[in-house]
Amino acid sequence: MNLREVSKKEGFGADYLLPVPQYADWTHRRNSGAFAPQADYIAGDAAAAYPWANALWLLIWPYAPVQGHVSGYYFASNASYHAMMRLQRALKEQGIASERAAVPVKPILTQWGIGSVLENDLVFIPGFGTRFVVQALMLALPPEDLVFTPKREPFSACIHCHRCGRFCPGGAIGGRGFDWQRCLRAFEEGPEMPQWVMEKLTCLLGCEVCQQVCPLNHPFPPRALTEAEAEALSLQRLISGDVGEALSLIGKNMKKGGKLTAQAAVLAANENRQDLLAALEQAQDTAQSPLKETLLWAISHLKNQA
Ligand code: SF4
Ligand code: SF4
Repeated sequence: MNLREVSKKEGFGADYLLPVPQYADWTHRRNSGAFAPQADYIAGDAAAAYPWANALWLLIWPYAPVQGHVSGYYFASNASYHAMMRLQRALKEQGIASERAAVPVKPILTQWGIGSVLENDLVFIPGFGTRFVVQALMLALPPEDLVFTPKREPFSACIHCHRCGRFCPGGAIGGRGFDWQRCLRAFEEGPEMPQWVMEKLTCLLGCEVCQQVCPLNHPFPPRALTEAEAEALSLQRLISGDVGEALSLIGKNMKKGGKLTAQAAVLAANENRQDLLAALEQAQDTAQSPLKETLLWAISHLKNQA
């Protein structure tokens, strides 16, 4: 099976076939609290977690930033997930076992000389910048297909202009490196967020600031939201709880107890959308805790700016 050809046909921008990775050091760092809880499910020792596999296939799905207050990441994540599922079906038809892999892609990409970690803790890949989704599959390939991507010298790409640190709303990027406990993205898993995160939220689904200001991303221009995307992600619609269309674009796992409604409410408050006050009050009337508290915060924040 020509892995490059089939992955390209499904829309992936690049793919890398690597030996099964073992990162005991990464597991040790994770266990000592170096990463946000979102990393808890990752297996540093893929050989132990997937003993049947003989290769790791990393698939890169680049995406353009989106104009407006939304991150383009989740559109790409959802689209690439479905493309990966189609690839898995094609592999199965060829008798090749595969399983979605939870592996530490950051050290893998950097140690293999594919990407480089920047001051903002994101990986940069030449030709894609920092905006890409990585899908990872463990494979059991026949010996003749085990042609690994050649390992290159690790490289450094960051020009240390410190723009990301200067603009980061949480103060996560500083002289002592990256502090995930000050990164907004680490606190957006559900409908409740710490107050300091709500006060600094500028974007639905994540935070785009350090990627926007990074000169290494400037060659990749933003795209406008499609009409369907803009409609599905209208703040009014999300605040009213009408999130079905949005979830079909960004992935059903984004539901998480009213997360989208909560973020839309906070964003409406931070953008001083007085026109959405009535919608917020109506949503608050029927909401359950903890979404209710977030809606109340948004209402109070909005009223204070009136
Ligand atoms: S995502 Fe936002 S909060 Fe996190 S480091 Fe980048 S700019 Fe800072
Ligand atoms: S903004 Fe400057 S310092 Fe920050 S990651 Fe980009 S190149 Fe590096």
